Amino acid sequence: MTIPFNRPYLVGKELDYIAQAHANGHISGDGSFTRQCHTLLEQITGAGKALLTHSCTAALEMAAMLLEIAPGDEVIMPSFTFVSTANAFVLRGAVPVFVDIRPDTLNIDESLIEAAITPRTKAICVVHYAGVSCDMNTIMAIARRHELPVIEDAAQGILSTYEGRPLGSFGDLAALSFHETKNVISGEGGALLINNPNLIERAEVIREKGTNRSKFFRGQVDKYTWVDIGSSYLPSELIAAFLAAQLEQAEELTRRRIDIWNRYHAWAESIEDAGFARRPIVPVSCNHNAHMYYLLLSDLAARTQFIEAMKAAGVGTVFHYVPLHSSPAGTRYGRSVGQLPVTGGTSDRLVRLPLWIGIEEHLDQVMRAAERALAPRPTMHRSISE
Ligand SMILES: *Cc1c(COP(=O)(O)O)cnc(C)c1O
Repeated sequence: MTIPFNRPYLVGKELDYIAQAHANGHISGDGSFTRQCHTLLEQITGAGKALLTHSCTAALEMAAMLLEIAPGDEVIMPSFTFVSTANAFVLRGAVPVFVDIRPDTLNIDESLIEAAITPRTKAICVVHYAGVSCDMNTIMAIARRHELPVIEDAAQGILSTYEGRPLGSFGDLAALSFHETKNVISGEGGALLINNPNLIERAEVIREKGTNRSKFFRGQVDKYTWVDIGSSYLPSELIAAFLAAQLEQAEELTRRRIDIWNRYHAWAESIEDAGFARRPIVPVSCNHNAHMYYLLLSDLAARTQFIEAMKAAGVGTVFHYVPLHSSPAGTRYGRSVGQLPVTGGTSDRLVRLPLWIGIEEHLDQVMRAAERALAPRPTMHRSISE
């Protein structure tokens, strides 16, 4: 592939910081680079407390433990998301209850949430797709009315805002991802953001194998011991060092992505006008982080043909998600509310274009290839001499 779908970008200091972590003589978790990442994340997101994890998946699992999700409990979420949104709760024995998405933002349709609530509902987990916020005013009002905690799967949402407020600062808990395909990366990596202060102390315990090690290091207890359930969710300092370098440049990384996104969006206007595709829709209440540029094509056949033609032109494009409610595990562990027609249609029609820092010089090539893939050469017109 001449132009891959994703290429991880280095800001420059990552490897120096990793060497520094080693020179510090501390490469297991929770050293000075981890503390620096926590501070940077709390500044960026406005969250009460940030804890690095080895993935967003891990942060979601911690969220499920913290909310004491138990067998038979229900958690309301979209079906149009990555598997980890559901798996974290299924691992606690809970039932993901899938509701449809809005046709504009492809986020959970907040108008369908209340009808999905039952006496077994224990939480609402929303996903900010493509770094564009869900309707948090409505969602938080429903959650308050029914006294349900909200978890934000903000894997794609770092540095996005809703009504000027950072994503990850609304729910009781939120999860970020630093997987290499996201905006700010550490290969694999994530963070749990904790806005409900009652959950902070237990989050530290769960993350540290169920021990009170964090309290011990703060001198608050004189020995450290097993106090609760937990696992090993903290990343090594090598990962935190890499991430610290990225987080220091997070705003610059986002600016550069937004430039690329804007170029795609201006270019795709005529494609939309010609009826070949629909462009992303960003509500006025949302500032997004240019995590993703996608097009919605007319149907599955058009999308399949597009991805093939792009591949032949050397450009990597991908689709997602296979809806969770119709996946083998989703039908086994989950339940849907209604038919989820928007989820089904979106999943057939969506294609993601490559968006990474450094692609700028290749963007024209991507756009020309996409134009040809969308509108195959018209059949030859009859020549005048005939
Ligand atoms: C990427 C992603 C995840 C998983 O993140 P990891 O860090 O790979 O565990 C979860 N949810 C959504 C919506 C994602 O985009």
